[in-house]
Amino acid sequence: MGRAKQEMIEAEDRGWYESDGYVCPDCVEDEFLKSVISDKACHQSCDYCGKASDYDFASPVEALMELIRDTVFYYYNDPTCAGVPYDGGSFIFDPIDTHEVLESIGLECDGQLFDDVANAFITTGWVASAHGHWASSHQNEILNTSWNNFVNVVKHEVRYFFSRIPNSKKSYSQEYSPQQLLSIIGHLAIELKLIIILPLGISFYRVREREDEADWEFDLDQMGPPPAARAAAGRMNPAGISYLYLAFEPQTALAEVLERPPCGAAIAQFDAQRDLTILDLTSLPLLPSIFDDSRRDQREGLLFLNRFVAEISKPVRKDGREHVEYVPSQVVSEYFALGFQTNGKLLDGIAYPSAVRPGGKNLVLFPCKRGYERNFDHVVFRSAQQLKFANWPELLEIVTGANE
Ligand SMILES: [Zn+2]
Repeated sequence: MGRAKQEMIEAEDRGWYESDGYVCPDCVEDEFLKSVISDKACHQSCDYCGKASDYDFASPVEALMELIRDTVFYYYNDPTCAGVPYDGGSFIFDPIDTHEVLESIGLECDGQLFDDVANAFITTGWVASAHGHWASSHQNEILNTSWNNFVNVVKHEVRYFFSRIPNSKKSYSQEYSPQQLLSIIGHLAIELKLIIILPLGISFYRVREREDEADWEFDLDQMGPPPAARAAAGRMNPAGISYLYLAFEPQTALAEVLERPPCGAAIAQFDAQRDLTILDLTSLPLLPSIFDDSRRDQREGLLFLNRFVAEISKPVRKDGREHVEYVPSQVVSEYFALGFQTNGKLLDGIAYPSAVRPGGKNLVLFPCKRGYERNFDHVVFRSAQQLKFANWPELLEIVTGANE
């Protein structure tokens, strides 16, 4: 067999033609690809930007090709291999070319490198696929569809016994049931280290509208959570079950409650009486690079969790419909309050992003004991003071102030 033919067979096995060029970190945008080039640097010049040095800073293009190829085949496949059906002599949807595939996975790099990468693939027509098959879905897509179903079920179908009712009209075979989805979110929270400890002594803030002339006292009764019998439905609690809503920053507590000046408010400080174990949805890890093959599962989980957190912390208009709009986050919250344990212990609460103050963090604390009496012994009421805002600049100054 001739050398050229042998090389062709090897290229077909591999899926791409080998390149003998070298590339430097400056010629790609993705931080992960930059780090791979630096790790594998073995050459003193870059064939793309022309930079040269007296130390090794460029790596073989082949080192990148392997990662890009794995990513392309994670999201796309040759239409025949992906099992795309034929209709009238052509595929039921048109394949796209390699340049479009590379754009869709977000490969940003030197223009010549982009062309070289595209031209190195043996496959020239692609269809979107998951696990190699056109009709299959990636984990984050399945989780998203399952979340849509969860929201619909608890808002409009079955509120209390959804775990016992078979999903008879399931049209999407890869979907998780509402019960399974809650447990998957719980596993993701553990895997991504979202269960954290807030140390004893940490301060939180809570605000109530209060005019100067109001005669009620600045005490726990007035500044604490409402008694169960008077607890209205909130983002994380159903009506009749009192949870304690706090903010990590005074500005966030004010922004959550005050709507327009002139207005007055009482702001109270609460301190943690012991370490608090919470689910922290305010600082999810950064999304791993799309090219990092070793962290694909984490990326899938985070793609879903980013959407999930945005959904359960989104602004909801208090026009009466909040009683339904808050149901999904109430169910999630009850699962983490009562159906989830870490090291044999129930959680104390959930931290979530403020819907009204970007960067602000809220905390909802679950009662220490369930029942008619208010029972939030994990925090202590410290003090409260009266504030007054005569106009927008005064109000905005405090609610948009930098995070502490
Ligand atoms: Zn370069």
